[in-house]
Amino acid sequence: MAKILVVDDIEDNIRLLCFNLEDDEHQVITANNGYQCLEKAQEYRPDLILLDMMMPGISGTETLKQLQADSDLRDIPVIMVSANDADDFIIEALDIGAHDYVAKPFIYPVLAARMRTALRLRENHLEMLQLNKRLSKLASLDPLTEAYNRRHFLELGNTEFAKAQRFKRPLSVIMLDVDKFKAINDTYGHPTGDAALKQLTSLCQNAGRSSEIVGRFGGEEFVLCCPDTNAEGSMALAERLRIAIEESTLNFEGSTLNYTVSMGVTTIQDDDQNLNDMLRRADQLLYHSKENGRNRCTSDSSLTS
Ligand code: GH3
Ligand code: MG
Ligand code: MG
Repeated sequence: MAKILVVDDIEDNIRLLCFNLEDDEHQVITANNGYQCLEKAQEYRPDLILLDMMMPGISGTETLKQLQADSDLRDIPVIMVSANDADDFIIEALDIGAHDYVAKPFIYPVLAARMRTALRLRENHLEMLQLNKRLSKLASLDPLTEAYNRRHFLELGNTEFAKAQRFKRPLSVIMLDVDKFKAINDTYGHPTGDAALKQLTSLCQNAGRSSEIVGRFGGEEFVLCCPDTNAEGSMALAERLRIAIEESTLNFEGSTLNYTVSMGVTTIQDDDQNLNDMLRRADQLLYHSKENGRNRCTSDSSLTS
């Protein structure tokens, strides 16, 4: 069963088609002219449109053009149905984007067979879109934590870097690494370590604004890219996140544990060429946090002051 929009200015034509389509258990929506067709296509999102060519007001061809121009409606297959079977008409309709062209008077089983083809193609197309969506999600997320993987993080982060440079906006990067994570694995087991990484990810994702980009950079190393955030703002965010992590307790399979992280916090500088320059600096600052006792944040200014 499919949802079919039938567009024709002659009531008898609509009635006859409706009779056949409903007999085939399709759900039928009708329109008497091109404007109504566009409105009803928006409202009902049919699976297929049977569009009359000759109508008062806007013609079938014009209606088809407007359907094609609308990104929401462009993918609905349209079969043109017309008494005019001049080659020029057929060629024009197909060139504009009609899926098929059927001359009136038509033999319903032939029209029905052409509709089945159109519907089959549409179904394949929709499946492909779904699959693409799933694939691009798989390709951009780290499977354990569902944070962005390194590759996708760099893609999004580089875009933010370019925007920050172009519009002279601040941009900060926070790099963090779990303290003595190996000991967590050794003491509680690898699955508990995994659970800690998942919990840590959601703490990072909920720490700031929704514009923050959270990526898993390596094993227990994460990065936050913070658009429109200056040194003061990013240090405040890092410190808030550090405390939230320190204070959260992980309960997993009978074990209860706490862990801490060390961070490096850096803000875009005039001579930064790309995001990598910032990541390198964040990594060095993170190293200082580790050296100075862990469970702390080090920023550009805490090194110079
Ligand atoms: P430091 O404070 O200096 O960072 O010490 P650390 O123990 O955290 O650092 P180290 O680099 O020695 O150890 C990191 C550990 O993270 C070792 C590795 O087995 C573990 N690890 C990496 N990826 C995963 C993962 O996906 N799951 C779990 N459970 N452990 C992981
Ligand atoms: Mg570590
Ligand atoms: Mg590490």
